[in-house]
Amino acid sequence: LVASSYHALLDNPVLLTKPDTAGFWVANTRVTLAVLDLNGTSRAADFKRELEADMAAVARFLPKLPVDHYTFLAMVGDFRWAGDILFSGKPSIGGIIKVARSLGSQGFGALEHNTSSLYYLGDFGSGERMPAELRVEKQLLDAAVHEFMHVITPLGLHAPAIHDFDYINPTMSQHLWLYEGVTEYFAQLIRYQGGRLTQQEYLDVMRGKLAQGEKFPNDKFSFTEMSRNVLDKPYKDAYMHVYDRGAVMAWLIDAQIRGTHQNQRSLIDVIMALHRQYGPDRPFEEAGFFDAFCEVAKTPGLREFFAKHVEGREPLPYSEALKLVGLEYSAQGSEIKAINPLDAGKNDLKVKVTNLGMTRVVKKVGPEEWAGLQLGDEVAMQDLVAARDAASESTMKLPVTRSRTRVVLEVPVKTETVARAHYLSVANEALWTAFSTRP
Ligand SMILES: [Zn+2]
Repeated sequence: LVASSYHALLDNPVLLTKPDTAGFWVANTRVTLAVLDLNGTSRAADFKRELEADMAAVARFLPKLPVDHYTFLAMVGDFRWAGDILFSGKPSIGGIIKVARSLGSQGFGALEHNTSSLYYLGDFGSGERMPAELRVEKQLLDAAVHEFMHVITPLGLHAPAIHDFDYINPTMSQHLWLYEGVTEYFAQLIRYQGGRLTQQEYLDVMRGKLAQGEKFPNDKFSFTEMSRNVLDKPYKDAYMHVYDRGAVMAWLIDAQIRGTHQNQRSLIDVIMALHRQYGPDRPFEEAGFFDAFCEVAKTPGLREFFAKHVEGREPLPYSEALKLVGLEYSAQGSEIKAINPLDAGKNDLKVKVTNLGMTRVVKKVGPEEWAGLQLGDEVAMQDLVAARDAASESTMKLPVTRSRTRVVLEVPVKTETVARAHYLSVANEALWTAFSTRP
């Protein structure tokens, strides 16, 4: 193997192992995936099934896939021992400390390249109580579309500081809103438009990003100031906000472009036009990029939006922008929800929280108990959340572990009105449908 330059060497990771591979075509692109699982589990076939669906969604979203071949390389570490400690029912403090020490230094994550991406995932076993987020496939899927979309930006659309990256004295670009924010925004939108996320799941994800993004220290520095100085304190502590506040910024920008152009033009059209104009070999001008972007976007008010909310420190105008895609935003909203039958304040019982907060065990049942719960019943929080979300007007199906057997209780539904910060609801069906479907 020969690399033409140091840059090319870094851009082409190699996975040398006994083969566990799979491949498929999506539109004009050959996708290959290769997995090294340190405990020997063969995973390529499972990964392929999931990735194929995600990549089909990407192909529907983009006018043309930007590469003719692409490789996903994944290494899966063996953390079943940690899964056993955490999800066995009675984790000891010593065990938890051991897990935290070990996992904190592991560096799970992913990195994008021009025609590949590399993943380090963890196998936490298949314990019944393991949160769904920790499944190996879920870890891969949470990152795969995002990493693939990096082929567009920053790899195909970037500033000189990235083009001629100085590995010894790096200068950072102010455009993290574009490189990470837009990329993460697209990753979620692609999965939603492609049917990989339901409307509720998509709105929950974006609401979560909105809430988390509000923690960005906007009073101390702006998003571009953070980006330029992201290697230094205190800016680097705010880096993770590129994935929440950055993605929300991209959402608001998309909404404004759609609003101006009656949904005939959206953010991806603008990004692809810029991608054609610049491309991997021609960096844009760092300082003039907001103007270059607005020239292509042809959206009145957008330059002011960047000046005030991305370069500046003003709060993001959620209501105004999201209205353009048919959503109503309220800083404090409320919704009617099925009452949590394990809430000791609302049911006649006592519960104990175990398993790092992930399980509730019924410790005492009084005469007024109304849900059918019994002494010793164990309920996983993820089951409780799913049951409340899926509850119909009259019943909720709640899975419970009762004397080591899983039974599903038919719990009568009682409702309450709960306050929710950053509440989003669909207010204009036509606009929301246009947003939800790729023309
Ligand atoms: Zn990224």
